[in-house]
Amino acid sequence: MRELPRRQGSPRDIRAREPLAGGHAVVVAGGGPTGMMLAGELALAGVDVAIVERGAGDRRAAARAGGLQARTLELLDQRGIVDRFLAEGQVAQVAGFGGIRLDISDLSTRHPYGLALWQEHVERLLAEWISGLGVTVHHGHEVTGFVQDADGVDVLLADGGRLRTAYLVGCDGGRSTVRKAAGIAFPGWDASTSQLIGEVEMTAQPPMGIHRKPGGCMPSAGWSTASATMAGSNTPKAARCG
Ligand SMILES: Cc1cc2nc3c(=O)[nH]c(=O)nc-3n(C[C@H](O)[C@H](O)[C@H](O)COP(=O)(O)OP(=O)(O)OC[C@H]3O[C@@H](n4cnc5c(N)ncnc54)[C@H](O)[C@@H]3O)c2cc1C
Repeated sequence: MRELPRRQGSPRDIRAREPLAGGHAVVVAGGGPTGMMLAGELALAGVDVAIVERGAGDRRAAARAGGLQARTLELLDQRGIVDRFLAEGQVAQVAGFGGIRLDISDLSTRHPYGLALWQEHVERLLAEWISGLGVTVHHGHEVTGFVQDADGVDVLLADGGRLRTAYLVGCDGGRSTVRKAAGIAFPGWDASTSQLIGEVEMTAQPPMGIHRKPGGCMPSAGWSTASATMAGSNTPKAARCG
């Protein structure tokens, strides 16, 4: 992996720079789970940090993750907030390898299990946590690029505005605008499978389980309410309901 040029300074230096006139010591582009977790960590370390998130504040995250693994629960526990997640989710043995369910209940951890909890709830709980830590979130602003000089970075916004910061961190997803603007490569293999995700309303409860069809694979969890998410390869499928 190519080593990137290091900026001078340590987190202590970041604290020394705050507050930055008209800006923040650190701006995090993207207010998903990664951006909120990082912002929370920086805020706990006393750093003046803000998030720039293109989505509106009241948005419901598109259906994605259905739960958290044991290691994530351990990290949330270290931050003293795991109870918020445990209170809303459902503990289950969800670890698996190659389609084989693994029982990790004998692992030496306080959380030898997974937690079923949709990502929209994970994001809401993280948002509440960072709000309590005083993290500023600029909703409805899209980062389009940046210009950096010896002292910091001007974050360029889609509405023509700029935000000054000492450090900019790209937590803006797999197609990260910040990564591309920084010229950071994303090496790897080309995708060999395409996936479709859709959220649909169903009139009947689909059969539970993984359904392998000629057009692709269709996981269905078989919840009882009408809303559903479809995920699978090449053809529309039902993936989860509820
Ligand atoms: C179908 C599916 C199922 C999954 N299931 C699981 C699971 O069961 N368990 C699990 O742990 N993970 C699961 N994942 C993965 C999980 O959803 C991701 O790892 C997680 O969302 C990554 O978080 P992130 O914050 O890095 O990126 P994202 O969630 O993509 O968040 C990026 C944020 O940046 C914002 N943004 C993007 N560009 C800009 C910009 N230019 N300016 C400002 N804001 C911007 C976006 O609006 C978004 O809020 C699943 C993913 C999918 C698609």
